[in-house]
Amino acid sequence: EKQYVGFATLPNQVHRKSVKKGFDFTLMVAGESGLGKSTLVNSLFLTDLYKDRKLLNAEERINQTVEIIKHTVDIEEKGVKLKLTIVDTPGFGDAVNNAECWKPITDYIDQQFEQYFRDESGLNRKNIQDNRVHCCLYFIPPFGHGLRPVDVEFMKALHEKVNVVPLISKADCLTPSEVKKLKDRVREEIDKFGIKIYQFPDCDSDEDEEFKQQDKELKESTPFAVIGSNTVVEAKGQRVRGRLYPWGIVEVENQSHCDFVKLRNMLIRTHMHDLKDVTCDVHYENYRAQCIQQMTS
Ligand code: GDP
Ligand code: MG
Repeated sequence: EKQYVGFATLPNQVHRKSVKKGFDFTLMVAGESGLGKSTLVNSLFLTDLYKDRKLLNAEERINQTVEIIKHTVDIEEKGVKLKLTIVDTPGFGDAVNNAECWKPITDYIDQQFEQYFRDESGLNRKNIQDNRVHCCLYFIPPFGHGLRPVDVEFMKALHEKVNVVPLISKADCLTPSEVKKLKDRVREEIDKFGIKIYQFPDCDSDEDEEFKQQDKELKESTPFAVIGSNTVVEAKGQRVRGRLYPWGIVEVENQSHCDFVKLRNMLIRTHMHDLKDVTCDVHYENYRAQCIQQMTS
């Protein structure tokens, strides 16, 4: 049977006019290498973005880790088209010197703003290709007791430029109570260090109860604890994405095992439009104001 990611609800988020044109969304992943970034984006969109990876020779593979790689996939569900761009970034930690390890990433985000700014001031304004990054998933390792200095600095380098959504990676390495403890700690530290992560907009008072409940859960689940897997395993007679252990199976899409489904729903079903709005109205506007200031001073 066919599996659905769920973006067929996108038309409910925006005007019908844009339905025909289709939607586009650019998602970036960042964080230390080996935390499961590539695996998670694969799991999120049920596509194997990295299926050509095996074809690379050793030399190319070395290059790959120091480069930002952009993948675009066109997916269609129930007649709704989504052009999804994933920006995979080199994981830090490989280099001996991690100072300013976020620099290539912030440069990349700025370059997309710059391009958009140039196009917007040009003659062909109607057909601008929008490559701005709408969301950055930041991966926090499961093994520490909270944020490391590098996590704090990294997110602070990004937070004025892009919607940062923090994740606790490889949540299958932790017990539920450890997950809760780490989440509480990370939330505290995000506050303490003044990191401005993406804020879910408050819902209107006339929203229905179910929606309000969803919204509350979303806020309380931050930072989402996720598990990624590219393998299909059998659980209770059903074939699911999961990880097989001697003591049992963790299912990626089981809500009592991790927040994967919450994250995907947030990105695709409920908040994609808001993520794009904030990118345009806040982050891009900041960039634009700076450009104009520089031009006139
Ligand atoms: P990246 O460097 O951040 O892109 O990490 P990869 O996606 O390449 O994954 C690194 C390794 O971690 C691989 O062996 C994955 O199979 C494994 N891995 C990925 N996601 C998870 C997870 O959620 N839990 C566990 N236990 N391992 C994972
Ligand atoms: Mg990777």
